[in-house]
Amino acid sequence: MIQRAKIILKNIFGYDDFRPLQQEIIENIIRRKDTLVIMPTGGGKSLCYQIPALMFEELTVVVSPLISLMKDQMEQLTALGVGAVALNSTLSSEEYGQNISRILRNDVRILYLAPETLLMPKTLAILSSRRVDCIAIDEAHCISEWGHDFRPEYRQLVEVRKQFPKAVCVALTATATPGVQKDIQICLDFEASNAFIASFNRINLFLQIAPKTNSVLQTTEFIKKFPNQPGIIYCLARKQVDDLTKTLTKAGFSVKPYHAGLPDIERRRNQEHFIRENVQIIVATIAFGMGINKPNIRFVLHYDLPQSIESYYQQIGRAGRDGLRAHCLLLFGYSDIHKIKYFINQKADKEKRIAIMHLSALIGLAETGNCRRIPLLNYFGEKYTKAACGMCDNCASGQKTLCDLTIPAQKFLSCVKRCDEIFGAEHITDVLRGGKTQKVIKFNHQALSTYGIGKEYSKQEWFQLSRQLLQNGLLLQDMNHGSLKLTPKAWEVLRGKELFLGKMEAKPRDITPVADSESDCDQALFERLREKRKELADLTNVPPYVIFPDKTLIEMAVFFPQSPESLRSLHGVGAIKSERYGSYFLEIIAEYCNARGIPEKPKTILNPESVILETAAKRRHLIVGEAYNSGKTIVELAADYNVKRITIINHLYNYIAEGNALRSGNEFQAHSDLTLHLQTEVLETFKKLGTEQLKPVFEALNEKVTYDELHLLRLYYLAGGKCSE
Ligand code: ADP
Ligand code: ZN
Repeated sequence: MIQRAKIILKNIFGYDDFRPLQQEIIENIIRRKDTLVIMPTGGGKSLCYQIPALMFEELTVVVSPLISLMKDQMEQLTALGVGAVALNSTLSSEEYGQNISRILRNDVRILYLAPETLLMPKTLAILSSRRVDCIAIDEAHCISEWGHDFRPEYRQLVEVRKQFPKAVCVALTATATPGVQKDIQICLDFEASNAFIASFNRINLFLQIAPKTNSVLQTTEFIKKFPNQPGIIYCLARKQVDDLTKTLTKAGFSVKPYHAGLPDIERRRNQEHFIRENVQIIVATIAFGMGINKPNIRFVLHYDLPQSIESYYQQIGRAGRDGLRAHCLLLFGYSDIHKIKYFINQKADKEKRIAIMHLSALIGLAETGNCRRIPLLNYFGEKYTKAACGMCDNCASGQKTLCDLTIPAQKFLSCVKRCDEIFGAEHITDVLRGGKTQKVIKFNHQALSTYGIGKEYSKQEWFQLSRQLLQNGLLLQDMNHGSLKLTPKAWEVLRGKELFLGKMEAKPRDITPVADSESDCDQALFERLREKRKELADLTNVPPYVIFPDKTLIEMAVFFPQSPESLRSLHGVGAIKSERYGSYFLEIIAEYCNARGIPEKPKTILNPESVILETAAKRRHLIVGEAYNSGKTIVELAADYNVKRITIINHLYNYIAEGNALRSGNEFQAHSDLTLHLQTEVLETFKKLGTEQLKPVFEALNEKVTYDELHLLRLYYLAGGKCSE
């Protein structure tokens, strides 16, 4: 059974492996056990009911409250060749009628419905004429009054369920609170044992929290690291959104604003531009994000402090849904805390207490010197047991062991003292580094003995140290102004009675936005592929990610597939997409590779479990190599596989490159159109320069031999061929 699910996973969706819990959930649903799915955003909830829907014989009904998400799912499923329709209030009566007749014709596997549409007697009548195998309830927290998004229609879904007693029910949500989880189970009458709760740790998100110093400069420096890559910048207030949008536009960035103060039509248009990749960055208030399914958001920048860890988590959760690395940077400023406190103080007593708790949890997250995932996951009731995640600023700073920082600590503490304990870390750092800021001049701090004694460390490093001094109780910070004061513990260190141990690097760290596994990617080719994707997307009027996810394009630019079979082995390439779009991309890759003499690289199999799914594609070069050794000719093989001669030559090269022997290569020589004299020159050049790269050979021969010939003669050379005139 699960084997079939895996085949669907590869053939339809083009994915090699299940994400955590997907397999268990699918198995449970197929056994017709009601299932509660709790997974963070981007965890892959949709697949949990879409695969069973394709395994069941009859209809799967999906209840979804957000029409934009419904539209997105429809586009994606249609591109995958899955029969799916939606019924909701935005359809014209003609579209509505067409969709209904498709349902009645049995032409549809998955039906998306808004809850209010499902509850209409008309809809129920249509459904009762068909067998319903599965009812999936997306955003299931809407059923609970405890949830942040309670919808009364959701309560009535229980009645609908009763009308289809044979249908298995799946409820899905990203809400982590146990109260809501329990409520969903009770409302829908589930057994507790059928809840699947995934970890809320999103391992592909790089978490960084940096002190806010010069926020505009920090923002531009940050987004420069992501040329052409989609991202969101969150601000607290509408005005801030407008101002920052103007500044960034002036600086030449591609940005659009989004907040509740903009006219509906403009807001929607900006969102659409972002999704379609006409615009790179959205600057937004928290109003932005619900109903956005864009999987390739590569960064989220919090320009201002979010209101709670929950909203921080929800907002960063919009990044990297495709599982590729995404960078989340929060600029943490004490003046922001001041602003939030001001809002909090307007609240009633009970609300105030809760808000203060939320805020201090957030400050704890920002100030920790340990792995950020520890307080973050802790907040959601999950224990993070690893000491270091390697994917947050604190872990990436590399230094695992504590070192003796007594001297810099003494410098910092005495500077705090000499500045009369009324300044924050920023000013102290300016004094230590000998800065000539207005404040330094105003208070005549260049006359202090601690002025300019700390140039050996960067601003960031001094901030890092001050955080550790705070955490270790050597400093106290005024919550309103951020000013620092010494504690008795600090005096112990200042007087040299105690050592101070902590983490600080000598060099500023550079956190690169690209993961190692992606750094093999040929950027120039990737850009070309992305342009093609955009062109195809615009032609069919869908967002680019519906054509292929980023990861597919990256794999194309890593493995350079030269045939439909190799293309099929890549992430995200199922049968239908390969047929519809494959040739466009293969053409670009072939042209690019031929001009540069880049051979196809076989995609290595990382997970032994996926071997069973291996089509002959990845191993094609082995089959071709063996067939050649058993006596087949290149021409025969090209005909057998209905491919060009160069494809066979590439397969044979991969065969040899993996260490296999080929039978004598006289045939290769026979295919060459070069004179014997020139052939000899080519072979000698290979001998001199090696065979790994063709470009140097091409150039050494003054570009007079084509790449096709070089491919051929390289094979001849590797198969032991020699030339004699
Ligand atoms: P959620 O609804 O939980 O936020 P989605 O269902 O939208 O998440 O999935 C997020 C992204 O992950 C989508 O682009 C989806 O195609 C992709 N995805 C889901 N399952 C897998 C998988 N097993 N392998 C690779 N990608 C997957
Ligand atoms: Zn970490």
